[in-house]
Amino acid sequence: MSYQAPRGTRDILPPDSERWAEIEEQARRILGAYGYREVRTPIFESTDLFVRSVGESTDIVRKELYTFTDRGDRSLTLRPEGTAPLVRAYLEHAALRQENPARLAYLGPMFRYERPQAGRYRQFWQIGAELLGSKEPAADVEMIDLFVSIMRAVGLPDVTVLINSLGDAACRPVYRERLREYFTARLDRLCGDDAERVKTNPLRILDCKVPSCQPVIRDAPTVLDTLCDACREHLGAVERGLKSLALQVEIAPRLVRGLDYYTRTVFEVHASSLGAQNAVGGGGRYDQLVKDLGGPETPAIGFSIGTDRLFMATSEARGAASVPAPDAFVVARAPEAAEEALAAARSLRGVLDPREDRPLRVMADVQQRSASSQMKVASRLGAKIVVFVPKDDDGYGVRDMIEGKDEMKQPSLESLRSWLRDRRRAAEGAR
Ligand SMILES: [Zn+2]
Ligand SMILES: [Zn+2]
Repeated sequence: MSYQAPRGTRDILPPDSERWAEIEEQARRILGAYGYREVRTPIFESTDLFVRSVGESTDIVRKELYTFTDRGDRSLTLRPEGTAPLVRAYLEHAALRQENPARLAYLGPMFRYERPQAGRYRQFWQIGAELLGSKEPAADVEMIDLFVSIMRAVGLPDVTVLINSLGDAACRPVYRERLREYFTARLDRLCGDDAERVKTNPLRILDCKVPSCQPVIRDAPTVLDTLCDACREHLGAVERGLKSLALQVEIAPRLVRGLDYYTRTVFEVHASSLGAQNAVGGGGRYDQLVKDLGGPETPAIGFSIGTDRLFMATSEARGAASVPAPDAFVVARAPEAAEEALAAARSLRGVLDPREDRPLRVMADVQQRSASSQMKVASRLGAKIVVFVPKDDDGYGVRDMIEGKDEMKQPSLESLRSWLRDRRRAAEGAR
């Protein structure tokens, strides 16, 4: 019997896992710099939360939820997105509502039962941020700028922002009706799903990916003709704000995004390295969602970045990653010294030293191998230095594996550690 990762999922192995950690670390650094604080919500929530927020007419709710009943007969769903859980937490905990607006963030896996294809997984990761409590265009500008800063921090300077407005309660119904009229007259040229969408939510049709639907979609009326003055003004202010930050921004009048809760601003961010079709992520304003979920009137905006996409987009820029080599490998000269080798490795790393912010990478054998086998292992791992235990009267033996020569013996582990640190610093300076 052999097992494989479930269809549509995959294992992230080193060195990819190390690059993932680096991307998340950069994202956390930028989120912190903008004043956004992380909230870790559960992986699953009550199913109702997603049905009510994401929307019953969306593909996500109709076809893609991972829903199960637990032993207490509760209907639970693996989170397909991060905004609804964060809004739920925002309403549940007064501490999150102390600051107005609240600036919150999340990083973690999401789950959607989608058809697996290149770069699309059933468990995928997102980095997201939400700004709750402001209706002003400045909030939209800050959000989009934050998104772009994260992209730049991970090495994607070449970014285009597409923005659109979906209107509000005053003008969106007008647009919806206009679309319904237009698409109803052309149903014979649309796919079966669209026939359903005309009834439930004709805006969804703009998001249809079926190739034969595209000519009809391309000629559909744009929202820009039906926006009310307030929405038009808002969109204009967001565009001006982004341009004043020297961001490359385009109005994309048919951009809708796949969630029902968006109002006014929606946006997508594209990296040139992924090609025109591939957004790294996007987001939008959701001025009604907090209220819809039982809270007070709270205009808000958020985004999510597809970490998988971000990883793909940065891979090409970087080339192959190297395996991190140990700074040192401790060799036990005889089997009796095996325990001492572990203890020496531990103190050379410096992980228990509170002043050490970057421990050395030091390894030792745990297989009771002979000294010569240990040397081979050290060499295969690319260890720069081998340290021999136990020490003799002159101190610890040290061998430079790269130069292939013995170094001066070191009288103590303390002196050995500072010698290793100096070497690492010198090597980094030389690079
Ligand atoms: Zn279609
Ligand atoms: Zn409006």
